[in-house]
Amino acid sequence: MIATDLETGIDRLRALIDDARAVLPFTGAGISTECGIPDFRSPGGFWTRNKPIPFDEFLASRDLRSESWRRRFAMQDSFGGARPGRGHRALASLYKAGKTPAVVTQNIDNLHQVSGFAAGDVVELHGNTSYATCLDCGIRYELETVRARFDANGGHAPDCDCGGFIKTATVSFGQAMPGEAMRRAEELTRSCDLFLAIGSSLVVWPAAGFPLMAKRNGAALAIVNREPTEFDDMADLVVREDIGNVLAPFIAD
Ligand SMILES: [Zn+2]
Repeated sequence: MIATDLETGIDRLRALIDDARAVLPFTGAGISTECGIPDFRSPGGFWTRNKPIPFDEFLASRDLRSESWRRRFAMQDSFGGARPGRGHRALASLYKAGKTPAVVTQNIDNLHQVSGFAAGDVVELHGNTSYATCLDCGIRYELETVRARFDANGGHAPDCDCGGFIKTATVSFGQAMPGEAMRRAEELTRSCDLFLAIGSSLVVWPAAGFPLMAKRNGAALAIVNREPTEFDDMADLVVREDIGNVLAPFIAD
């Protein structure tokens, strides 16, 4: 059912959460927009103005690696200081209360970790942009380190000491999905009894597969998103209101 107003939506969501043994939140860009992080996929968004750099082109061209880092540092300057929003804080409260074992996210902004989830309990389908790794040896680099080397290099992408390319820990277009994250997301989806999709249009693969998997497994499905999604018809609850307003009552502190 689609909630007719905000209050009804909150009441129904509370009832579903109270009834559930294990709530699995699945989050997309919508949960972070109130934190000042734009939805890159939205019309007029970052990706419509800056064509994404596919993984094979990143590997093939040093100029594109440098361009990729230029964009990343520009992002850092505009919203590197973003803080968790009401949605993140509400989910962290459910997590601390033992109601939710982990969160699965399409976001790369690290805000679930900042809000209080242990890093190991944030399953990131698209990686994390708050740090970088060497594609060859896997060593971790902090962004400040990469930026200092980038500047010292005259604005060119620095390489790892091993000679490998350094890239943010995100999953680029054309890059393989992280197998371990996919495996854990499936396992969590199959073991929850309330799948709570928040701020995701649920169209981008692999996001689209999870609500269906949860429903088939007998879990309830709740969707909190400003816009309609493909799965509204099969959901037990759909709340098309501002995400922060819907989730604020679930913040415990
Ligand atoms: Zn290396």
